[in-house]
Amino acid sequence: MMIPVTIGILAVQGAFIEHKQMLESLGARCIELRNKADLAVPLDGLVLPGGESTVQGRILREESMFEILQQEIKDGLPVLATCAGMILLADHLSNDQASYFRTLPVTVRRNAYGRQLSSFITTASVKGIGSVRMNFIRAPYIEAVEPGVNVLSVVDGHIVAVSYKNQLALSFHPEVGQDTRIHEFFLDRVCQRKVQ
Ligand code: GLN
Repeated sequence: MMIPVTIGILAVQGAFIEHKQMLESLGARCIELRNKADLAVPLDGLVLPGGESTVQGRILREESMFEILQQEIKDGLPVLATCAGMILLADHLSNDQASYFRTLPVTVRRNAYGRQLSSFITTASVKGIGSVRMNFIRAPYIEAVEPGVNVLSVVDGHIVAVSYKNQLALSFHPEVGQDTRIHEFFLDRVCQRKVQ
């Protein structure tokens, strides 16, 4: 039995509904985050979904959520970030001038697979979870990590999953399909922090 937890899901753009459905099916309470007022409820975890990082970054700032969430992540709020979410966390982007939260000490390449292979599915191992079917959709990958970053999965020589402190960042979309193990892994961390 899981302890009651509240997960904020960034819901300004992109694939947030699927995360919400999966987390609710696992027993978490979810709040869609669209503006600053939605941050009034204390959160135990945060999901940054896939979508378009430029749009998400702009709305985060316009809706005055950016600084609040950045500080919470720095203070240890557990985060599950997928695809565009990984871009929002990255310290550096190798092929873009932009930067967002900069809480994850990695260098990320946006749209890293180019036009030819922009979306694909593969199966690979994720440390601590096992073999996972991975959906890549115009995905980024990680080109370099600083010390302290745990590399959890490598596909074709490119890093596609990492953890660092309470941040878990994935190039692929674990909310697609029926496999809930990534979300369970995240909720375990959320619960661990809550009972500390
Ligand atoms: N290409 C998108 C970006 O750069 C990310 C794609 C995704 O989240 N599926 O923001």
